[in-house]
Amino acid sequence: MITLCSQCDKPEHQCTCERYCCHCKSMENIRMGVDGLYYCSDCREACDVLLADSDAH
Ligand SMILES: [Zn+2]
Ligand SMILES: [Zn+2]
Repeated sequence: MITLCSQCDKPEHQCTCERYCCHCKSMENIRMGVDGLYYCSDCREACDVLLADSDAH
């Protein structure tokens, strides 16, 4: 299953949305979580959100 961006409904590699953390608005180390939202590494760990592509390997 592919996780889609919550804003544009495209997978992470096709998404061209401006990427910033949905919690702290940081723009560093932003990755998509399994819920389709973008997180910085700190907030992603704090919220226990897995990477969108973590089950693709
Ligand atoms: Zn997007
Ligand atoms: Zn953050």
